[in-house]
Amino acid sequence: MSLIFNCRGPVVGVYSQELAPKPELIGKPRRAGCGAVLNKLIDLVPADGKDHEVKCPVCKAVSRIKKTPEDKEPA
Ligand SMILES: [Zn+2]
Repeated sequence: MSLIFNCRGPVVGVYSQELAPKPELIGKPRRAGCGAVLNKLIDLVPADGKDHEVKCPVCKAVSRIKKTPEDKEPA
């Protein structure tokens, strides 16, 4: 598995009807968009089933990452 995790940027508000690209996004947090690849930081998160915070080095937005032991790639 080699997923790429892109930072979605800081929350800048909530989707209004005019701004939402999809109707299901209305009322959901709107993010500025950043695109920084967070894989290196996420790789450092231990697979202990607990929530960890990963701070984007570019925009400082914090993402919550939880890895369960099963997510770990086989050695
Ligand atoms: Zn970012």
